[in-house]
Amino acid sequence: MSELVIKNLHVNVEDTEILKGVNLTVRRGEIHAIMGPNGTGKSTLAYALMGHPDYDVTEGEVFFRDENILDLGPDERSHLGLYLAFQYPVAIPGVTVANFLRTAINAHRKAADPEYKGVPIPEFRTMLKERMDHLMMDHSFAGRYLNEGFSGGEKKRAEILQMAVLKPEIAILDETDSGLDIDALRIVSEGVNALRGSEFGALVITHYQRILNYIKPDYVHVMLNGRVVESGGPELALQLEEQGYEWLREKYSSVVA
Ligand code: ADP
Ligand code: MG
Repeated sequence: MSELVIKNLHVNVEDTEILKGVNLTVRRGEIHAIMGPNGTGKSTLAYALMGHPDYDVTEGEVFFRDENILDLGPDERSHLGLYLAFQYPVAIPGVTVANFLRTAINAHRKAADPEYKGVPIPEFRTMLKERMDHLMMDHSFAGRYLNEGFSGGEKKRAEILQMAVLKPEIAILDETDSGLDIDALRIVSEGVNALRGSEFGALVITHYQRILNYIKPDYVHVMLNGRVVESGGPELALQLEEQGYEWLREKYSSVVA
């Protein structure tokens, strides 16, 4: 089964415990939203799942496609079909968007087939243009250095472009909605919805309910103080939109203290 199973995950950052036992299962075909106040550990969860070396897993397990992935490097997790769209994408001066994406595709295909010789340029160009058109990105983007001088919205589109090209089985989107105006939000959401189906699952991390109007989640979870404290359906996101997080802080005051 292609599922991401997170069991009792504890993560330290610089010797401070940030995640305090997260449990969550995301199956392909399902969209899960994770909401929560700032500083609650949402990005920490995303980084830890992807294998960032600064995020120290002290307890718990993470399975993906029946494999314990905690001993795998970020590249190996990516080859298995996990993808993270960063909250704060970094610039890579000197590497164009096109070169970056072609290298990523080739790395993926070579991991699956060591004999693979590399994606033919015409096939790559056609695919890239088609995906960029979907995301309403000017074709000149392909020749620009990755994220160098990109606006906030352009960076988020570039993250979704990478996802559209790599077609992961499970994608983690960390506040992909932040910094997007309503038109960009709609376009980016369509990019995610285009992948939706039985082969694709996602963990949509967001502070605001707004993106969930476009990417309709099957499940909504709330994180407080390093734990998932409440889970429900889409109605939970609407309740948070109306009432904020305070009622949950009170309800779970013993864990949040
Ligand atoms: P969220 O994404 O929910 O806003 P984060 O996971 O970014 O929360 O942060 C959770 C806590 O971990 C915060 O107190 C933050 O200061 C701390 N933290 C996260 N990443 C780092 C880091 N690289 N170095 C130091 N502290 C960090
Ligand atoms: Mg964050």
